[in-house]
Amino acid sequence: MTIQADLNLKYAGACPDDPDDIAESYLLHLLPAGETEFFEEHYLACGRCTGILSVAEDYVLSMRVACLLSARPLPARGGHAPVADS
Ligand SMILES: [Zn+2]
Repeated sequence: MTIQADLNLKYAGACPDDPDDIAESYLLHLLPAGETEFFEEHYLACGRCTGILSVAEDYVLSMRVACLLSARPLPARGGHAPVADS
C-alpha cells in the first residue's frame, strides 16, 4: 500500500484514531509530509476535529507563553525586574 493510500484510508470520512495527537502535531508542524493537507481537508469538514484543534491550539499557545515567561528573569520583590549587570 502506498503512503497516499494509507492517508486516504486514515482520513476517509472518519476522524483519525488519535485526533488529539494529530491536532497537536499539526499545530507544531510535526506531521509527516502530505499528512498536513489530509488533516486540513478533514478538520475543515469535521466539527469534532475542529473543536479538538481549537483546544489544542489554546494548549500550544499556553505552552509557548509559559516558555517565554520562564525565560524572563523573575521580578524582584516589590514587582520590579532585577537590573541586569552590565
Ligand atoms: Zn474528525
